[in-house]
Amino acid sequence: MRTLHNVEDVATPEAFARDPDLVLRFYDMRREAIQTKAPNAAHLALARLDREWEGELLIVTQNVDDLHERAGAERVLHMHGEHLNAWCTACDARVPWTAPLIDRPACPECGAAALRPDIVWFGEMPYRMDEIFAALERADLFVSIGTSGAVYPAAGFVRNAREFGAATLELNLEPSQGTLWFDEARHGLATELVAAWVDEVLGA
Ligand SMILES: [Zn+2]
Repeated sequence: MRTLHNVEDVATPEAFARDPDLVLRFYDMRREAIQTKAPNAAHLALARLDREWEGELLIVTQNVDDLHERAGAERVLHMHGEHLNAWCTACDARVPWTAPLIDRPACPECGAAALRPDIVWFGEMPYRMDEIFAALERADLFVSIGTSGAVYPAAGFVRNAREFGAATLELNLEPSQGTLWFDEARHGLATELVAAWVDEVLGA
């Protein structure tokens, strides 16, 4: 989808304080748009891995859509929030949300007109970092899929995983900025790479 704004104009707490209508309208459009998208072969392959892999698994995503869930994955952690949630800044509730926020609907929990997108903006702390680091510490294998390796803290996970003793694999369209940190890197379309890798893991 074409965006009409620089990300700094809409994806920061400062932007929201300065022009809340602009920010809410932008996220209302995004929320509507993602509901028309469908999971691709990579989402479906990861959902299959989640279903069939009996060991521990955690799909940590920087994506804010619900395509992993719609593909059927359950062990998913959205470190940058979710378009289909709203966050009440009055009572701190997070509620499933598919409608627009521009008209300042009431929070279902407390009634306050204080809902904002449940999206981690620049300058805000990503969610559930303790759980992510605990998973990195336990992991035997860390796989990075479809990321430029430019946005921290996620870009640093490969080094954390290495320090904790995990093997590391990159699956990406092209070498990421952190590609040298991986034991192995495969480059090409995620839809093909991920499906092939899941087949390998599951012994198909
Ligand atoms: Zn509330």
